[in-house]
Order: sequence, then structure tokens, then C-alpha cells
Amino acid sequence: MLRPLMIYLSQAGWARDMFIHFAPARRAVRRFVAGETLDEALDVTRQLNAKGMGVTLNYLGEHVHTEAEARAAADAYTHIVDRAAESQLDASVSVKLSSLGLEMAEEFCYELTRGIVERGKARDIDITIDMEDSRHTDATLRIYHALHDDCQCDNVGIVIQAYLYRTEADMRALADSGARVRLCKGAYKEPPEVAFPKKRDVDDNFAALTRLFLNREAIENGAILEVATHDERMIEAAKYHARQNDIGPEAFEFQMLYGVRPRLQEQLVQEGYRMRIYVPFGSQWYPYFMRRMAENPANLWFMVVNFFRA
Ligand SMILES: Cc1cc2nc3c(=O)[nH]c(=O)nc-3n(C[C@H](O)[C@H](O)[C@H](O)COP(=O)(O)OP(=O)(O)OC[C@H]3O[C@@H](n4cnc5c(N)ncnc54)[C@H](O)[C@@H]3O)c2cc1C
Repeated sequence: MLRPLMIYLSQAGWARDMFIHFAPARRAVRRFVAGETLDEALDVTRQLNAKGMGVTLNYLGEHVHTEAEARAAADAYTHIVDRAAESQLDASVSVKLSSLGLEMAEEFCYELTRGIVERGKARDIDITIDMEDSRHTDATLRIYHALHDDCQCDNVGIVIQAYLYRTEADMRALADSGARVRLCKGAYKEPPEVAFPKKRDVDDNFAALTRLFLNREAIENGAILEVATHDERMIEAAKYHARQNDIGPEAFEFQMLYGVRPRLQEQLVQEGYRMRIYVPFGSQWYPYFMRRMAENPANLWFMVVNFFRA
């Protein structure tokens, strides 16, 4: 019941306007969002690097409506790439194609994304394309393949969602082409025609996709799996599969969201696994924060406590 409500609220303008002007809510947000500025995000990156974790920076902003807004987002991402390179921190950059005009024109979005990825390549910064709702899956994959396969931008990776029925076929093609894939469960509200409605089926698919992608042949092709989950059963399944197949911890990476299960993040680093944290920042934090609330009702309690803290 709560998940659809929170997803609805994440998209409702009236709820956003109420929420973002409420100081205690802004305080609660700081657990999941590094701050509103790039400097704050780089400070958080420094702290996480010191704990042995990499970072992927995510500038919060989705769904632009004009070409000028999309170009401004592309400029912002390019600036982040430059600052990440200059900082010499272990930081990659994640981008959302809806903020780069995907809903206006695919070719236009491709050109903007290519500019960011090529800048990343020149400055040795990895770029990962986030996956949004299923209306955009085909176009997002087309843009990814055009960049990776045709433009030879080997610094670009893509997010894939285990809740979609189509994902197994997509993962096979990505393994063959030596892709870097960030596998997550999927955070959007999808109809049963395109996505597994039951969480148990999503979990089973996530584990099966991990086994499918994490194999010697794919690794020799250059494929890299980023296991993006906070679910200990998924993490244990990945570790077990890697051990059984003599795949060392350097061949894949665990990834989690900033503020979610920080103790588990540290524990995996202590065990010798690679860990990268998705660090969002920027003034457009409202929909991101509400999706995190939708994922875990326990966070609602955390938010309520912050609401009433002096
Ligand atoms: C690095 C990264 C990148 C992502 N990129 C995308 C993307 O591009 N597109 C997309 O659709 N989704 C993305 N996601 C979100 C993802 O799809 C899931 O919605 C999210 O990770 C929760 O799923 P889970 O695998 O952690 O498992 P769940 O089964 O949801 O959670 C497992 C356990 O983890 C803990 N947990 C999970 N979420 C939270 C939370 N918010 N707060 C506190 N505890 C929590 C709880 O203990 C829970 O029981 C990304 C996730 C990560 C980690």
C-alpha cells in the first residue's frame, strides 16, 4: 500500500512544494543526499574514499522540458566530470537520460550524452547511464550501445533492472559485447505486462542474472558486473557464485546507495570486496528521496523522527 503512495507523492507537485519548504524534512533528507552543491558531494566522496569505498556522483535532476534545460544539465554533468578528475578522488559519474532530453528527441539526447562520455573518456572518468521507467528502456539501450559499440567509449556503463521480463535477453547481449553493467532490482512502478509483480520473482531473477553475467567468458570479453543492492541474500548469492567459479573479488563490485545500510557497506570492504556508493546531490532531491522512502517503510519512521526533532 505504502509503495504506490510514496511513488505517487514523488511525482506530485503539490506534495513536493509542501515538503521542500519544511526545514525538518530537509534535515531528514541529508541521510540520503550529500547536499545541494558539488563541493558537498566531493566532501562526502573524500570521506567514503577514506573508508576504502569508491563513489559514483549523481546530480539530481530529472525530466527536462526544453532543449535549453537539457543543455544546462549536460553542462552541469560535464563540469562534474572535470571536477571529479581534478579532485583525483575515486569518483565516477551517473547520468539520467531524461535530464538530457530523452523525452524530447533521442538523437539530441544522444549527442549531449556523447559529449559527457567523451569528456569522461578524455579525463579517465567512468560514466554510467541510469535506467528509468520502462517507456525509456529501448532508447536508453540504443544510446548506450551507440556509445559503447560504435564510438568505442569503453568508459560508459549502463544500469539494468531485474524486475523487467526482457532483462535476461538484454543481459546476454551486454555480456557478449563486454559491457559494464550495474544490476539493480528496479525502482519504478511498472505494469505486470512488463515487470514481475512479485518481489520474490524479482529477487530470483536478480540472482539468476548475477550468475548469468558473472562468468569467465564474459569477464574475458571485458564485461564487469556491478551488483547494486542492499539485499544480503543477493550479496551472499553473488559471493557464493564467485567463489564456486573461482572468480576473484576484483572481477566485480558491490554498489549501494548513500545512507542505506552503511554498516554492511563497511563490512564488505573489510571482507576485501570492492564497494562503490551512489552519492546523489543537488537541489532537485525530492523525487529521489521519496523513491527511497517507497523502498523501505522503516525510513518513514526515520523521517517522522526528524520532523519532530528540534
Ligand atoms: C548503486 C545503485 C544504483 C541504482 N540505480 C537505479 C537505476 O538506475 N534505476 C532503478 O530503477 N533503480 C536503481 N536503483 C534502485 C534499485 O532498483 C532498488 O530500488 C533499491 O536498490 C532497493 O532494492 P534492493 O536491491 O536494495 O533490495 P530490497 O529488497 O528493496 O531491499 C533489501 C533490504 O535492503 C534494505 N534497504 C533497501 N532499500 C533501502 C532504503 N531505501 N533504505 C533503507 N534500507 C533499504 C532493507 O533492509 C531491505 O530489507 C539503484 C540502486 C543502487 C544501489
